[in-house]
Amino acid sequence: KFSKSFGQNFLIDKNILDKICEGANITKEDGVIEIGPGIGTLTQELCERAGKVVAVELDNRLIPILDETLFSYDNVKVIQGDILKIDIEDLIKTEFDNKKVKVVANLPYYITTPIIMKLLEERYNIEKIVVMIQKEVAMRIQAAPGGKDYGALSIAAQYYSNPQIIANVPKNVFIPKPKVDSAVIMLDVYSKPKFNVKDEKLLFKVVKAAFSKRRKTLVNALSSGGLGLEKDQIREILSKHDIDHRIRGEKLSIEDFIKISDAIYSIQ
Ligand code: SAM
Repeated sequence: KFSKSFGQNFLIDKNILDKICEGANITKEDGVIEIGPGIGTLTQELCERAGKVVAVELDNRLIPILDETLFSYDNVKVIQGDILKIDIEDLIKTEFDNKKVKVVANLPYYITTPIIMKLLEERYNIEKIVVMIQKEVAMRIQAAPGGKDYGALSIAAQYYSNPQIIANVPKNVFIPKPKVDSAVIMLDVYSKPKFNVKDEKLLFKVVKAAFSKRRKTLVNALSSGGLGLEKDQIREILSKHDIDHRIRGEKLSIEDFIKISDAIYSIQ
């Protein structure tokens, strides 16, 4: 019955449902978007606490089940669709009067990163994202410079939000049991950009280049990363900003990457 290709693992533990809702601190003032309501267990909990819930489910076989489980609530709307394709800005406008919303979900794991990145990059009116995801991805999102989990995803997520793992979740609270451990992560989305950067696209290009070859030094990675820069130019930029040119990307903070990217911007 369950669709593996849709990443369907349903939550059955009331404690975990409570933890997710409490983490999101949901009140009757809140508008909530849920991604992948499944059979509606988390949705019911959200309906009890929130002002309004809009749940987006891809699998049309689940829609009649959701209609049944959510029958007694008048503050919920189920939309059949693909969260990666629907116009979220328009949804927030039409369903929530353009007021800031919270996104709460037990995400389909095969598209965790694209979903989170879409929610952050597009700068929608979202104040908080509280989602159940693979533990390994949660650790990467939250990682600090220097560790093995730190990478382009950590920087992207921390550029737009303050992420924090709020619970580790064992496999046996799902049906069917997933193969990996899970965690609930909360991302407090910055309402105004926290960092000042000359060219955001360039920043992420630099980050991507730095991490694309993890074994390489920063100079080697950046000079072969499609940025059109010679090694000498990169060395010069690094020394100007007191960054050791033998360093690897995984030791650099977001602020370091911004310095480098701004310097590249100025000479381009
Ligand atoms: N929220 C439910 C729960 O906690 O029991 C189900 C969570 S299950 C991990 C993920 C859900 O996301 C499934 O119901 C699946 O059909 C749905 N889904 C998968 N891909 C989706 C997409 N692109 N857009 C919206 N929903 C999707």
